[in-house]
This record gives sequence, C-alpha cells and structure tokens, in this order.
Amino acid sequence: MEMRKEEIIEIGKRLYSKNLTVATSGNISVKTEKGIYITASGSSLGCLKKEDIILIDKDGKEISQGKASSEKKLHVEIYKLRKDVNAIIHTHPVYLTSFAVCNKPLDEPIMSENILYFEDIPVAEYAMPSSAELAEKTVKYFKKRDVVMMANHGAIAVGSNLEQAFLKMETAEYYAKVCVVTKNIGGCHYLSKKQVNELLKLKKIKES
Ligand code: 13P
Ligand code: ZN
Repeated sequence: MEMRKEEIIEIGKRLYSKNLTVATSGNISVKTEKGIYITASGSSLGCLKKEDIILIDKDGKEISQGKASSEKKLHVEIYKLRKDVNAIIHTHPVYLTSFAVCNKPLDEPIMSENILYFEDIPVAEYAMPSSAELAEKTVKYFKKRDVVMMANHGAIAVGSNLEQAFLKMETAEYYAKVCVVTKNIGGCHYLSKKQVNELLKLKKIKES
C-alpha cells in the first residue's frame, strides 16, 4: 500500500508543477481494497509526505491516524455513485476556478477534442466547502460527467486511476484557458451543429 501513497505524492507534484493546484487547496484520493487513501486536511499537494495520506473507510471514517481532507464526504459519495471510479482529484486551477466563480459552464463547441473528451463541464450549485450540502449538490453531476466545477470554488476530476483523473483535470484546465484566450483574440469560431453531432456520434462509438 506504500505504492499507493507514492502514487498520490507523485500526482500532487505533477499538479503543482503544472499550476493545477495552489498552496494548501485541493485534495486527492484513491480507492483500494483496504479503504480510501486521501490527503490530510491542510496539506500542500505539491509537497506531500507519506504521513499526509490518511486511510478512511467507505463512509469516511478515519482508519489510520491523522485528519483526513475536509472534503472526504464529497470523495466518499462519488465512489458510492460511480463504481468505475478509483481516483478523485479536487483542485482550484486558475481558469476552471474562474469559470466556476463566474458560474459559467464550459459548454461552447470550440474544439473537437473537448466534445469527445467532456461533452461539457457543468457548474454545480454553490454550497459551503466541506459541507454535506456541497456533496449533495455536486455528486449528482457525476452520473453523466467526469469533470465538474463547483460554483465559486474549484473543480473535481474522476478517473479509473490517478493518471486518468490527472489527465482529465489537465485537459479541462487547458479547455478553460483556450476559451479565455480565444475571447481575448476576438471570439471563437464555433463548430456547427452538424459537426458537433458527428463528434457526439464518434464519442458514443469510442465509448461502446
Ligand atoms: P482540505 O485541505 O481539507 O482537503 O481542503 C482543501 C479544499 O480545497 C477544500 O475545498
Ligand atoms: Zn476546495
């Protein structure tokens, strides 16, 4: 299980080096046969130590010593909803968080890759960080999506493993950044309905 901790430490470093996390914001978890490994509350994802990774049970109760992330409810409820998810990353990357602060979903058909990858990235309604209400308002979006923004807060990405969750967060932040940059250039040239439908068909084929 030490390997699982090392994986989390490594992903934390990558998130930090890619500016996908800042200071002590965010948290990472991985589901295993033993329980869920989750970062400690208040830890900085860029420089995690093994002691900063806490084992909790499927309901969020601490098994090992230390104080698990204050967002453990969010993680636990996503694992309960999605049996295919084995890793979750929550961070506050600057572009995704800016869209979340503006309460604007990322749903404009600007790049084929994003339609294939996400379809769209919704914004879950605001609730206090760490609250049960936040979990309740956010988790339902994961029925259909792998990346969700939380209003006036940040973003969450899920995956079958940590690498997948990381790639989704990185791609989502890139999508948000391209949206901002293209607006500064003078506005995007949107894909047509026909082009979007073709991409959605291709997405279905890829997923089947
Ligand atoms: P924790 O340090 O408790 O994981 O909280 C960070 C965070 O991003 C809260 O939303
Ligand atoms: Zn947060």
